[in-house]
Amino acid sequence: MFKGILIEKDDAGYRANLTDIDEAQLPEGDVTVAVQYSTLNYKDGLAITGKGPVVRKFPMVPGIDLVGTVEHSSNPEYKVGDAVVLNGWGVGEGHWGGLAQKARLKGDWLVPLPKGFTPKQAMAIGTAGYTAMLCVMALERHGVTPDKGEVLVTGANGGVGSVAVAILAKLGYTVVASTGRAAEAEYLKTLGAAEIVDRAQFSEPGRPLGKERWAGAVDSVGSHTLANVCATTRYRGAVAACGLAQGMDLPASVAPFILRGVTLAGVDSVMCPRPDRLEAWSRLARDLDPALLELITHEIGLSEAIPTAAELMAGKVRGRVVVDVNR
Ligand code: NDP
Repeated sequence: MFKGILIEKDDAGYRANLTDIDEAQLPEGDVTVAVQYSTLNYKDGLAITGKGPVVRKFPMVPGIDLVGTVEHSSNPEYKVGDAVVLNGWGVGEGHWGGLAQKARLKGDWLVPLPKGFTPKQAMAIGTAGYTAMLCVMALERHGVTPDKGEVLVTGANGGVGSVAVAILAKLGYTVVASTGRAAEAEYLKTLGAAEIVDRAQFSEPGRPLGKERWAGAVDSVGSHTLANVCATTRYRGAVAACGLAQGMDLPASVAPFILRGVTLAGVDSVMCPRPDRLEAWSRLARDLDPALLELITHEIGLSEAIPTAAELMAGKVRGRVVVDVNR
């Protein structure tokens, strides 16, 4: 038996509980991992609280990322004792995930624990941080270099936002952080933000085009925010869109794209091909100051994951939450 969070949905309703799970119930997979840490991402918040239709099969162990050591393997790429990381691939949505002491997975989904990171640091980054790196790589692909001008990060106090601010600042960009939590300005400045702006200026319906300001942007918020960010992005700038914290809609016009040549670059971490994942993790080892991870992260035990998921959904969590599944 091992401990894990189990989400169930039946006539008694939708519920998540910390419970003892029989190892025989683990799903199919060629690698069994003794999990050390998982995390709480926005998607895990949706899954645990039931606020979004993330879980596609019940019962489900949530947790879209994990780090741990291989306990059994019939995959030639992995042997007992290897340290591995998992992000995405529908784990925690359609396949049992990381918020448990054990996970059984497809070896093809795993990447070796990146050199230079402890297991806890890898989860301090987690899916949110690896997605932030994918967003920065997307901006680079579209020619957004530090000399081009200011880069905006929305949802800056969140997991994706915090890591994006830290990476962009280390790379030499002038980072403007948009947030609803002005009280966290010092935190964002320590991560490297040059200026903090109130997210309210982006959150209401806006004009098709506004004054050009951003050379690029990382947006984890969607909805009116993304529309207004595109409308104020400079000629030939790029916006990497990865999230929907404000909403899934995009009430925008084509004006920024057809009149200013703005690129809207979509970023998905879940099905992202392995070569891009490996590149993102090696870039994180180079372009993120590991000392900042302490500031960005707070650690909880598995028993605290359910109440903390509700706080995350209420926008009360700053940065990243690492879950020690063994306490
Ligand atoms: P967090 O909950 O950590 O951060 C979200 C942040 O968004 C909040 O901290 C808040 O920042 C801001 N926010 C919340 N509600 C609103 C609102 N109504 N209007 C404007 N801003 C709001 O989540 P994550 O960083 O883990 O994820 C962020 C988004 O990115 C989520 O939508 C998630 O699903 C998505 N995501 C997508 C991935 C992909 O593969 N495409 C991978 C990972 C995440 P502040 O307090 O600073 O205003």
